[in-house]
Amino acid sequence: MTEEPKSSNFVRNIIDEHNESGRFENRVHTRFPPEPNGYLHIGHAKSICLNFGIAQDYDGKCNLRFDDTNPLKENLEYVDAIKEDVRWLGFEWENELYASDYFDTLYEWAVQLIKQGKAYVDDLSAVEMREYRGSLIESGKNSPFRDRTIEENLDLFERMKIGEFEDGARVLRAKGDMSSGNINLRDSVMYRILHATHHRTGDKWCIYPTYDWAHGQSDSIEGITHSICTLEFEDHRPLYNWYLDNLEEHHPQQIEFARLNLTNTVMSKRKLRQLVEEGAVEGWDDPRMPTLSGYRRRGVRPEAIRKFADRIGVAKANSTIDIQMLQHVIREDLDAIVPRAMAVMRPIKVVIENFPEDKVEEFEIDYYRHDKEKEEKRKVYLTREVYIEEKDFEEDPPPKYFRLTPGREVRLMGACLITATEVIKDNDGNIQEVRCTYDPESLGGQAPDGRKVKGTIHWVSASKAVDAEVRIFDHLIIDDDSYSEDEGKDFLSKINPKSKEVLQAKVESALAGASPGDRFQFMRDGYYFIDPKDSSEDHLVFNQIVGLRDTWGKQQKKK
Ligand code: ATP
Ligand code: MG
Repeated sequence: MTEEPKSSNFVRNIIDEHNESGRFENRVHTRFPPEPNGYLHIGHAKSICLNFGIAQDYDGKCNLRFDDTNPLKENLEYVDAIKEDVRWLGFEWENELYASDYFDTLYEWAVQLIKQGKAYVDDLSAVEMREYRGSLIESGKNSPFRDRTIEENLDLFERMKIGEFEDGARVLRAKGDMSSGNINLRDSVMYRILHATHHRTGDKWCIYPTYDWAHGQSDSIEGITHSICTLEFEDHRPLYNWYLDNLEEHHPQQIEFARLNLTNTVMSKRKLRQLVEEGAVEGWDDPRMPTLSGYRRRGVRPEAIRKFADRIGVAKANSTIDIQMLQHVIREDLDAIVPRAMAVMRPIKVVIENFPEDKVEEFEIDYYRHDKEKEEKRKVYLTREVYIEEKDFEEDPPPKYFRLTPGREVRLMGACLITATEVIKDNDGNIQEVRCTYDPESLGGQAPDGRKVKGTIHWVSASKAVDAEVRIFDHLIIDDDSYSEDEGKDFLSKINPKSKEVLQAKVESALAGASPGDRFQFMRDGYYFIDPKDSSEDHLVFNQIVGLRDTWGKQQKKK
């Protein structure tokens, strides 16, 4: 696939300005900074494509930095999964780094701020601190511990570090301005006491830096030029700048962009973790999950995700993208490259009465209908008994129904023309089989006299077809537009109870040798992927990647 040229955006414009003014000596160094407390989702992909994409296009560098400052929620499984997902998306980092690598430097710099009179140890409880902080409309008040001497602060901070106090007893705070209009500047917390084992530093530390204290300083240590983050950190930028101005260290530019939201989609690690832990899905890589591992397992290609990230662009205002646009891009990505085959999802049997019992008619059919370069062909066999899709037969058809119905001729795709003559039912009225006749002159699918046959349906030979489990997916969140990302813990009530359906299908015999990781377009239905975990030689399992119906594309054409 050829990738589309990258669209320009306001982040790139800022970088261009810096390159013109020489602010970073024409250097461009970005970073992608996930917290290893869950698997990456498609929102992260937007940030990855932006950060790594910019580094590539400006001949710069991009670090992968784990923001591992909260030992209670983080672990190595997540670190490994994040690395796998970034690589799968097609990016390689300059350096693999950890905020925890900087704990010593951060500690020294905190001591430096204390010595400058810019930080102090506070004994207020969390509840008291909240009261003292004030609100958007009300100024805060100074903590009674704010005027401790530098010596006292140095002593207490040291003792916090060596473990003399229990969790929550004291914090280190920046000495900002309790009357600032920006609440982040009202004496932001830099360190909290937490006696917890860290997945990398073990028990060396019992004080851990906050996001605000760790993030900008980590950027600075790494020589990052452009620290790109989501919009909710816009109000933190003055604090980001305040720390670096006081430390007089290398000072990157923080730039905020709008996070990705998708309709019918949960997009926060916390909620995704809840889905996994409460068993609402079968794991982080459940094909219904908006995680990168979920998309991978479902059969989406990384090319499609990158294309999607570029198409949605980068803006400064939050919005929600229609999930159908993502599905449109996934379809577009697969259309040209995926071979076509026939599969019957809900089979009913058709018996062709005038087709001899032991006769097998063999056809060579192209796998790729539109790509004349690819000449791969597959063998398709016609036998007396075939399966067709339940919905392709109607005994009592509605108007304009052109599929199989008594007395009407239809085409078995690529094989022949058949006419239904009789329906056999069991005692409960369920259809057992449809009996038909075929025109022996129509082998290959065309009538020799050129008579028009409107309907074409897909089919498989009953004796040659292979059984397959097919998993069909729908949105994880119900389709009533009532879900919002602000939804609280009980968002589980918005889970679609019919998000997964398992069918026992019949697929063309040519697919018997297909391997995990192969993709097919099942004609008139959708794109499918052989499940890499559950499929085996004698039990094929297909995941539906996306259906063929493109509502979004149609809407765009009408506009
Ligand atoms: P979540 O709320 O899902 O846990 P997060 O922002 O806490 O997301 P991090 O691991 O801290 O997750 O995110 C790493 C990077 O990915 C950050 O720079 C963050 O801004 C970015 N990111 C996270 N979610 C989105 C999103 N929906 N759209 C764009 N970027 C995102
Ligand atoms: Mg976060």
